[in-house]
Amino acid sequence: MRSFLFCMQIKRLGIDAGSLYVKIVILDGDETSFSSMSAHNGNPAGAIGRLMRENGIAGTFLAGITGQRGAEIAAALKTELVDEVKAHRRAVSSFYPGARTIISIGAASAALMELDENGELRHYSANSMCAAGTGSFLDQQLSRLGLRYEDTSHFDTIANPPPVAARCAVFAKSDLVHRQQEGYSKAAMWSGLCRGLAHALMNTLLRGRRPEGLTVVVGGVAANATLMKWLSAACGGNVVSFALAPYSAAIGAARLAVTQIGMAENIVFSVAGNAGEPCAPLRKPLVINKSILPPPSPELLRVDRHGNEISISAPPAAKQNKTWLGIDVGSTSVKAVICDNSGKIILDAYRKTGGEPVRAAQALLAGIEEALQNAGVEAQVLGCATTGSGRKIIGAITGADLVINEITAHARGALYADKSIETIFEIGGQDSKYMRISGGVISDAVMNYACAAGTGSFLEEQAKNLGFTLNEASDSVIGVAPGVLSDRCTVFMEQDINGLLRRGYSRRQAMAAATYSVAQNYLNKVVAGRFVSGDKVFFQGATARNKGLVAAFENLLGVSIVVSAHCHVAGAHGAALLVKELCEKEGRTSSFRGFAVARRRILLEKKPCAACHNRCAITYAHIEGEARPPSFGYRCGKDGDSQPKKTNVNFAPFAARAALFRSACAAGKTGAGLTVGLPRALGNYQYLPLWSHFLDGLGCRLKITGTSDEEIAHTAARVSAADFCFPVKVAAAHVQKLAEDGEVDYIFLPQMISGRRHRYATNNYFCPYVQSAGAQAAASAALSGKARAKLIMPAIDFNLGKGRMSGELYAACGAPLHVTRRQVAAAFTRARKAYEKFCAGARAQGKKLLDELARSGKPAVVILGRPYNTADGRVALDLPRKIAQLGVTVIPLELVAFNPRNLGRQFENMFWIYGQMIIAAAKMVRGSRNLYAVYLTNYGCGPDSFLVSFVREIMKGKPFLALELDEHSGDAGYMTRIEAYLDVIRHDKGSPAPQP
Ligand code: SF4
Ligand code: SF4
Repeated sequence: MRSFLFCMQIKRLGIDAGSLYVKIVILDGDETSFSSMSAHNGNPAGAIGRLMRENGIAGTFLAGITGQRGAEIAAALKTELVDEVKAHRRAVSSFYPGARTIISIGAASAALMELDENGELRHYSANSMCAAGTGSFLDQQLSRLGLRYEDTSHFDTIANPPPVAARCAVFAKSDLVHRQQEGYSKAAMWSGLCRGLAHALMNTLLRGRRPEGLTVVVGGVAANATLMKWLSAACGGNVVSFALAPYSAAIGAARLAVTQIGMAENIVFSVAGNAGEPCAPLRKPLVINKSILPPPSPELLRVDRHGNEISISAPPAAKQNKTWLGIDVGSTSVKAVICDNSGKIILDAYRKTGGEPVRAAQALLAGIEEALQNAGVEAQVLGCATTGSGRKIIGAITGADLVINEITAHARGALYADKSIETIFEIGGQDSKYMRISGGVISDAVMNYACAAGTGSFLEEQAKNLGFTLNEASDSVIGVAPGVLSDRCTVFMEQDINGLLRRGYSRRQAMAAATYSVAQNYLNKVVAGRFVSGDKVFFQGATARNKGLVAAFENLLGVSIVVSAHCHVAGAHGAALLVKELCEKEGRTSSFRGFAVARRRILLEKKPCAACHNRCAITYAHIEGEARPPSFGYRCGKDGDSQPKKTNVNFAPFAARAALFRSACAAGKTGAGLTVGLPRALGNYQYLPLWSHFLDGLGCRLKITGTSDEEIAHTAARVSAADFCFPVKVAAAHVQKLAEDGEVDYIFLPQMISGRRHRYATNNYFCPYVQSAGAQAAASAALSGKARAKLIMPAIDFNLGKGRMSGELYAACGAPLHVTRRQVAAAFTRARKAYEKFCAGARAQGKKLLDELARSGKPAVVILGRPYNTADGRVALDLPRKIAQLGVTVIPLELVAFNPRNLGRQFENMFWIYGQMIIAAAKMVRGSRNLYAVYLTNYGCGPDSFLVSFVREIMKGKPFLALELDEHSGDAGYMTRIEAYLDVIRHDKGSPAPQP
């Protein structure tokens, strides 16, 4: 038994073995006399041993062990594991005794601890689903921007950075690419990312509430000054941290330690790490039997003075050559190919984008020019094409003759290598694609959405965490039988990898498991049951060089996986081939600015277009020596500033529906009287004609919010009471806007419960989020008590009959609006008539349009989704208009008259009102030769989580595209998918309707 006195005399040691790092502290009395940390690469015991040896830590301590990987260390040292939450509380109380909230942000976790006035825990919550909001997420985005944490400490404070969504790594990437194209600096993008992360944390952990009292941030991320600034702003100030915050758990564990341990180095080394015998079950070893791997890197591959990897694969015989240039500008790398007039690659080049696509592309062009000169080749570039997420900006700067989506470019590159190919897999950093080729054209294509688990970046991160270089990760897993991992989100997989290591699997087996898991995820989430050739599959993208992944695909599919020597530049090659075909077909002279553009100064500037209320953000690329900067970003599709707004005939059905909707809404009374605000959100995208006439009938002045814009999107992230789907957050922002409007006396926010039931379905409910939208808006911490008292929230169930409905309306409106029961009943009757007239108008409009389309046989796309999703420009990222600009007529779902009979027995239990409309419309589309469907769905949408698969099933045999939207504003990824989809439609022979 140790005496208290003895305990006071010996030092305390705290060890925090987390999911990625180990941290050690030694306390000398109350002072932290030593602290150090290290990545453990899957072997925390080994990392602890190394840290102790390197720092000469030995002797007897009171030792406290905590952290996600702490149990195995504690067990080996025969001591109790210290609870991590207790450890943080103990550490924080020693620095800030009055703290009421602790936010802990670790490498793969984020947690909130709320304390009472005695420091006792009264509430705890943690992130669950996703890596967003964690240190790993930030690390990943930082490396995408080509930054180190040290660099960010020199950044100026950016007061108003561009929005960057931080709910998911894929969405963040989409926004960052978008911001790069708009010319934002790295400092601005970093600030926007940190602000997005702060809001995501507030939503996930605090459900939109503000923390009480002093908030202390702990964990490695606390050292990030930009994030701390935005967290403080989101919490309303009173947020602090301390220099040793990354060591908070280790310090707390040391303070709570009760076991005395003789801590010789060898004790730590004896801790069971990951060298034990593997446990069953194991998968089949990763072996390559029939796949074809690329030859080793060509001898002429070299890294030039600009940092480009350049390889000359076929030095041309002639000195003067007619050549074609393709540039693939991805989010993490830029690739370029020069091919000769036969299409054969002469030279290919590769470099990291580093968050600066313009500089990266310039460096690449400079390198290509020099490499050609050194080889004595005079290359006359007859045409240039750009592809990839940065295709627009680099296309504008280089003067490209063709700007093409990467799906089409990749398919073309693969077809050059093998005309018989039917299936192409492409796995990039954050994107992965599947393409099916039939008769030499794309007949189906799809990209991953909202999940990075089947992409190259996940593999890179796991290799790094396990202490492998990329090459080692590729080679060392061959012949290894992987452990079994989940095939879900990256965070779950990371936890599973840790679990494997804990159970004694080797690092190689864990790496093999991660590799296998990426292949499995890709097949489950991207290919998702689509056709895969039984003969061979072409595998492209830089990730295809990973032998383990090739083996995993071969094992899973039993087919030969073919990887070409140019797998990493297949997109750039395809772009070069496509521009060659285009220029030759049209006899074009190239507008390529030449390699000299690499030496010119280029300045990006962003200005709003003032030609209409959309005020699109236009990017101008000022190129040294040129008077007129190329510009892009015109939402209406016009070609430059000098032109008026362009009207797009293909968008006419959407415009007509919007005009009908506008004219069906009452304007409200003028003069004296109460002003009632109506948020243009959720059910109001359908029922505004009803409610505006109702309130007008009661003598109210009306204030209806406009369609959502960037400001609303920003407010949405700030005021939402929880991490809802984006449309619900947007609704809260519209309510907030009305609440802050001094002229608005009341806000009318009906709780839409159910539409009128019909005999073809059991029920006709609105989604629970729509039903409770008023309550959610009221729950927003941003809404003042005074504003809350302004909410009028009648429950609306169209099954109740006129009498009971107007009774409900009277109960909600009578007193605040000073109206009688009779006035309410009369106003409601008139409003219903106005609404029915609007519905009849929409039906007539839709019938006329569909009849015309049927007669013309012209292909058209029906936009499936909720009206609040598809008609709100910001929520829908204007995608319907952008599809129209690509030459295809778009039809809103609301113009496809709902025929409940179309549901059939199979869907009679579809009790969701918009679900019924979507299913019925999908069936109608499937049955017509010239109609196609694009489904705009939402991240985090409950009903869509099953509805999309129903629609996909209905659409089987016909090209179909689903796009998942969220708060991010970048559209590059969507446009790639849309452009490829329209290519597929163009080649579709009018999918025949299924036989009854
Ligand atoms: S829609 Fe066209 S005219 Fe209107 S702001 Fe955008 S680019 Fe200018
Ligand atoms: S249906 Fe989906 S998108 Fe609409 S409110 Fe409900 S969860 Fe959100």
